[in-house]
Amino acid sequence: MNSSPEKKKPMFTLGGLAASRGFVTGPVFLFTSGRDIAVPEYSIRPEDAIAELARYHAARAETKRQLLEIVEDFNRRAPGSSEADVFTNHLQMVDDQTMITECTKRISENLVNAECAVYRTVEKYRELFSQMDDPYLRERVRDIEDVGQRMLRAFAGKDSAQFPKLSEPAVVIADDLTPSDTVALPRDLVLGFATDRGSVTSHVSLLARSLGIPAVVGLGDASTRLHAGDRVLLDGTNGALTVNPDETTCREFANIIERERELRAMLDDGRDIPCAMKCGRRIRLAANAHPGIPVQTLRGFGAEGVGLYRSEYLWLGSGEQPSEEVQFKAYSDIVSGFRENEPVAIRVLDIGGDKQVEGMSAYEENPFLGNRSIRYLLSHRDVFRAQLRAILRASALGPAEVMYPMVATVEELKAANAELEGEKARLRLAGVPFNENIRCGAMIEVPSAALNSAALAREVDFFSMGTNDLVQYTMAADRGNDEVAYLYQPTNPAVLRLVDMTVASADAAGIPVAVCGETASDPVLALLWVGMGIKELSMSASYLPVIKKVLREITFEDAKALADDVRSRLDTDTAAAIYSRCREYLLSKEPAFAEIQSYFMHDGPEL
Ligand code: PEP
Ligand code: MG
Repeated sequence: MNSSPEKKKPMFTLGGLAASRGFVTGPVFLFTSGRDIAVPEYSIRPEDAIAELARYHAARAETKRQLLEIVEDFNRRAPGSSEADVFTNHLQMVDDQTMITECTKRISENLVNAECAVYRTVEKYRELFSQMDDPYLRERVRDIEDVGQRMLRAFAGKDSAQFPKLSEPAVVIADDLTPSDTVALPRDLVLGFATDRGSVTSHVSLLARSLGIPAVVGLGDASTRLHAGDRVLLDGTNGALTVNPDETTCREFANIIERERELRAMLDDGRDIPCAMKCGRRIRLAANAHPGIPVQTLRGFGAEGVGLYRSEYLWLGSGEQPSEEVQFKAYSDIVSGFRENEPVAIRVLDIGGDKQVEGMSAYEENPFLGNRSIRYLLSHRDVFRAQLRAILRASALGPAEVMYPMVATVEELKAANAELEGEKARLRLAGVPFNENIRCGAMIEVPSAALNSAALAREVDFFSMGTNDLVQYTMAADRGNDEVAYLYQPTNPAVLRLVDMTVASADAAGIPVAVCGETASDPVLALLWVGMGIKELSMSASYLPVIKKVLREITFEDAKALADDVRSRLDTDTAAAIYSRCREYLLSKEPAFAEIQSYFMHDGPEL
């Protein structure tokens, strides 16, 4: 029989979400995750409830055994690794008293079998979380499903950690991957992965980033369009998957991979050394964090403490008021991971505006200008006091600071500080340890705070500029509304005047001032802020190495000269002109910046 020459497969590119940076190429390995457990559902007799409860507890014990094994395995291979935290969270879910009570009630009161009780409880929470507004929390649905599947498999006597054997290095293509699937990937053979579903905040993406595996998610229908034998180029930096590339595309891709390797080596150099500008001026680079983020991840990027800890995630995550104990545990976890000279600024509940917790606030016509943040806390003193106590107690275990959001007046600061002193007195009396000298700070996020900064500076130990809100309120443009995104102008002269005013007040009072908004992670703006006298920048941890690299190439004198030049043009230049002036200046000092930006950074504001 004549064998016909092999037909060349057509090349095509699929676009998805850039979940984990990096470029890889290889053959595809198609993986279908096994969510195929049939759940038996039947009624039981009252006298069988005890035996059914015993089956439930046995399955729970087996689930815990498997999860503990995974956590221990991580800790053996990479002590303190952040991946272990995903499964520690799964363990907490298995031990969650509310879940246990719901399951056991279904068995002993509703008289259903144990599998059905677990399935219905998991479904209830899956439903609840999938309706959450916050994308991070919505993605926790995957963890709930994952734990549920593991437990249902335990009833069936199966282990969840099953990943088919790979015979050669490959790019895994799947409809979706649970955290359990992701950790079961044989790391030495998985070059990268691409999934139909998922978002950049899903655990699979978080794990990919922490494992350093390039990944693209949200591709839609990749798993059905690709076949065994296809080759792919996976671009986790831009979120693209090219299938069956031609020779020219492969060559271009190989060059990109080589260049990325060189740039990455350059950025990794000195990651653990504290940031100093070329002239030696120290700039503290800290991370923005929230409950649940592993300290190890922040440290891995070289964070010198936490400049903004968004405590409101504890409320948004549970949909209710967390107890003082829950808060104490969360704050202790983060502060105990840092040393004395690496402060962790715990921002008290920044609720309201776009962060609503059902049942906590009354309806407001205009929530962005309503009873939010520090205003809410001063009108709900019990909530405020419980949070202050939790922070104070955590301050005995690590370098905690208290930070007040959305401050507009001196009176608010005085009232907040009086509450802090009140809670200190209470703890002192009860003999509970805390740091007597805990530092407190005000966020400068509304124009009145900047304009009143000289007076505010007398009440606090530091300022932190929340530029996301400062720009929003100065420009009167909703930061989440695309229609007015063109007004998100951090370099608008009005904003720069407020920054200048705040720095001058802080300098006069001898207190430090930081920037903790997203602008801190834009090298162009970071350079301008530093030139204007800011000595601390706090941002999403993954941007720290790039900002460090840029600042190390520039002297303060140069940055200051740029800021002076910008100041001299505030009456004539537009926001766009100021931004490009700063960008050109940065490029003149650090020509590699444009390339670094295209490989590792988001673009600057759309001006
Ligand atoms: C800010 O407003 O810049 C800020 C850091 O706070 P958030 O983004 O949480 O409002
Ligand atoms: Mg804010």
